[in-house]
Amino acid sequence: MHAIVAREAGGPDVLELREVPDPTPGPGELLVRVEVAGVNFIDTYQRSGVYPMDFPHVVGSEGAGVVVAAGTTGTAGSGDETPAFAVGDRVVWTDAPGSYAGLVVVPARSAVHVPAAVALADATAVALQGLTAHYLCTSSYPVRPGDQVLVHAGAGGVGLLLTQMVTARGGHVISTVSTPAKAELSRGAGAEHVIEYTALGDLTHDLPEIVRGLTGGEGVAAVYDSVGRDTFDASLASLRRRGTLVLFGGSSGQVPAFDPQRLNAGGSLTLTRPTLKDFTATRAELDERAAEVLGAVAGGTLHVRVGATFPLAEAADAHRALEGRATTGKVLLVPDA
Ligand code: NDP
Repeated sequence: MHAIVAREAGGPDVLELREVPDPTPGPGELLVRVEVAGVNFIDTYQRSGVYPMDFPHVVGSEGAGVVVAAGTTGTAGSGDETPAFAVGDRVVWTDAPGSYAGLVVVPARSAVHVPAAVALADATAVALQGLTAHYLCTSSYPVRPGDQVLVHAGAGGVGLLLTQMVTARGGHVISTVSTPAKAELSRGAGAEHVIEYTALGDLTHDLPEIVRGLTGGEGVAAVYDSVGRDTFDASLASLRRRGTLVLFGGSSGQVPAFDPQRLNAGGSLTLTRPTLKDFTATRAELDERAAEVLGAVAGGTLHVRVGATFPLAEAADAHRALEGRATTGKVLLVPDA
């Protein structure tokens, strides 16, 4: 099969299309023909060496496709009720290493059936990013009706979905984006105020001022911050008393060491640094979140934006686009397109 291999840690140029042996599923695993692979920031962290990885490795962890062989399914490795899968089933997943490929082995415990009404591309677009948006606004800081929150990178994959979910829960979104075109998309997802943060003279000083101006001087109940290094200080300063900073990514770089006294000085603030796997750790929780997200897509209440689709062979260009802030919504790869 064809696969995208990262030959060593480095920039997008280390990605190569190679012919590699087909993988073989073991107990509790599915062999899946990949119809679409999802491109996520974590793939770039793994490629560049920010997260430790063995090299060479086949890149990617997310996708959707059709089961072509099912090992013994059941409860291997999960300890709870993994559903049965059969050849021909349409499935989506977020954590199968080697998903930038024609075939991938997916652990049955983390595969989810895709409802007939949902296209595989759309299922992929709400897999890692949709489940993340879901836990962020239901668990990390559960949005209550009337809450005002700040969402950074509002036109991104997580940003567009999170904005819709917060709005559906009765919250009000202030978002940040880098361009007028992204501002338009963010507004379309429900953001009431959109700030072009790259146009600010001094982000750390100016953004909190604008946010306070939009919240009657109080600040927001929560900030969902995936940008990290560049926005962290502004995010803290934008919170209301006892507000929550949900730091969930580092698109601009990782946040350096932090003095907890700043939470005291800021008004008894809460800082959390969550990750998806802890919010889908049991099969029951994965199923519940996936059913809500995929159900909302099927029901037409959650809108999916696939901003770009690349042939598998052009994975390096997809990484360049994502890291270069040139994407909106979801980025997909299509094997053999
Ligand atoms: P996005 O589609 O949001 O793309 C990243 C966006 O970040 C860019 O489009 C850009 O938007 C903004 N950005 C700001 N500064 C920079 C910079 N210096 N370089 C690149 N981008 C920048 O990506 P995703 O939705 O896939 O992921 C968003 C973040 O969420 C990532 O950091 C990812 O690691 C994290 N994440 C965390 C998870 C978790 O459970 N903790 C799970 C899933 C994702 P703009 O041009 O508008 O500034």
